[in-house]
Amino acid sequence: MLSDLKGDQLRNGLNLYDFQLLILILVSVYNFMFEALKLANQASNINEVPVGALIVKDNQIIGRGFNKIISNNSVSAHAEIIAINNASRFLNNYRLNNCDIYVTLEPCHMCAKAIVDARINHLYFGALEPKTGSIQSIDKFLERQHLNHKVKYSGGHLEEQSAELLKNFFKSRR
Ligand code: ZN
Repeated sequence: MLSDLKGDQLRNGLNLYDFQLLILILVSVYNFMFEALKLANQASNINEVPVGALIVKDNQIIGRGFNKIISNNSVSAHAEIIAINNASRFLNNYRLNNCDIYVTLEPCHMCAKAIVDARINHLYFGALEPKTGSIQSIDKFLERQHLNHKVKYSGGHLEEQSAELLKNFFKSRR
């Protein structure tokens, strides 16, 4: 969405219409990240690492997920995978064209590959994951040349809140 604004517009200053558009985009990114944060909280309530994800199409949430690795006895039950599967069932399509994903934590390699394979348009994420984050931290996976679908991404949305939730979760388990 942010990338819908052209570089020229950003360089030459925004007119009132563009400015309103930019504010609308920022508010909607904030709102969706806030919803993802609520899902992360649900994970924390069942003693799963608090990460939440959702899929948005045409400004509507069509898939939700939070970590369920322990509850599902599955190493692949990451928030992003569950949200993608949820949205795929909703659309009855394994391709999520023109959909965006919002996730509270920088995705790992498994989830990044699923995001590419699902043909997701834009990834918005919250906190960085310094040990396994494949987008900026230990790799720039989405920028690899051989990928046949390019996913736009931006991080740092509600970063502090997402990181705080994780920090409190691990603190409470010590
Ligand atoms: Zn993952």
